[in-house]
Amino acid sequence: LLQLYQPLNFFGVVYREIKQSLTDIEAMVKLLSVGREVADDADAKPLAVDGAELRFEGVEFGYDSRRPILKGVGFTVPAGKTVAIVGPSGAGKSTISRLLFRFYDVNGGRILIDGQDIRRVTQSSLRASIGIVPQDTVLFNDTVFYNIAYGRAGASPAEVEQAARLAHIHDFVMALPDGYQTMVGERGLKLSGGEKQRVAIARTILKNPAILLFDEATSALDTHTEREIQANLREVSRGRTTLVIAHRLSTVIDADEILVLEAGRVIERGRHLELLAAGGAYASLWARQQESSQGPAPVPGVLAPT
Ligand code: ADP
Ligand code: MG
Repeated sequence: LLQLYQPLNFFGVVYREIKQSLTDIEAMVKLLSVGREVADDADAKPLAVDGAELRFEGVEFGYDSRRPILKGVGFTVPAGKTVAIVGPSGAGKSTISRLLFRFYDVNGGRILIDGQDIRRVTQSSLRASIGIVPQDTVLFNDTVFYNIAYGRAGASPAEVEQAARLAHIHDFVMALPDGYQTMVGERGLKLSGGEKQRVAIARTILKNPAILLFDEATSALDTHTEREIQANLREVSRGRTTLVIAHRLSTVIDADEILVLEAGRVIERGRHLELLAAGGAYASLWARQQESSQGPAPVPGVLAPT
C-alpha cells in the first residue's frame, strides 16, 4: 500500500481526498499502473456483463489478519436494482466498496458479478464495469469538457454534450463564460457541490457502467445540496445495478433493500418502511439522525420517529 500512496504525495490536495474516500480511485488507478495490491490471474478473462447482478457470498476480510473487519457478509443486488448499506462509522461499509473494486482480495467467501468471481476476471474489465458517483467530487484543474470527457477516452464533443444533457448540466455549462472550455477546479471557476457532482455524473454517464457505486462522504451538506444529490443519484441509478454506501440515511429511502452493517455483520435487512416498523437498529439510527442537525429531507408517508 505504501508503494501505492508514495507517488501520490506529489498530488498534494488530491492525495488527501483519495486517502479518505473512493472518490478518485478510478483516477488513481489510471494514474498509477504500478503498486497494485492484487494481480490478474494468468488466464484472467474480461468480465462478461449481462445485467450485472452483484452478489457477496459470506465475505470475510481484514486489512490485518489479526483484526477481521467483515465477518461473513452476504447480499445480492439483482440486475438494475439498488441496495443500500448503512451502519455506524467503522462498521466496514467503505471496505465493502473497496473490495468490490478489488482494491483488496477477500479472505473468505466470494464476490460475484453475473456469476463470475471478480478474482478470476481482468481488473481492467472489472473497473470498467463499475462507475463511482462521488458525493465530494474533486475536479481536475482543466476545462469542463476535459472533466466530463475523462469518463471515456476519445469521447467526441457530441457525446460529451449528450452526457451533460442527461446529467442536467448542459444549460449551466452553456451559460459559463467559455462554455465547455471554461476552466474549473481549484484554480478555475468554483462550482457548488451539486454542480461538481453533476459533472461527475456526466462523466459516469459517458462511461456507461453496468454497476454504480455511491459511497457517501461523511462531510456535512446543507439540506439543499443534499436533496439535489439525492435527486441526481435517483436519476443516474435508474436501470443500473447500484450499491449505495450511506453514512446518512436520507439517500437510502428509495433502495430496494437496505442492509444494516454493524461491526462487520449484517444485523438487519429490509426496506425503509419495514425497518422503521421493526423498531430495531435501523429505526434507532434513523431517529438519532433526525435529532441531529437539520436531518434528512422529509419523506412523504413516513411518520417522524419519536
Ligand atoms: P465505514 O465506512 O463503515 O465507516 P470502513 O470500512 O471505512 O468503515 O472501516 C472499517 C474498519 O476498517 C475501521 O475500523 C477502519 O479503521 C478499518 N480500516 C479502514 N481502512 C483501513 C486500512 N486501509 N487499513 C487498516 N484498517 C482500515
Ligand atoms: Mg466509509
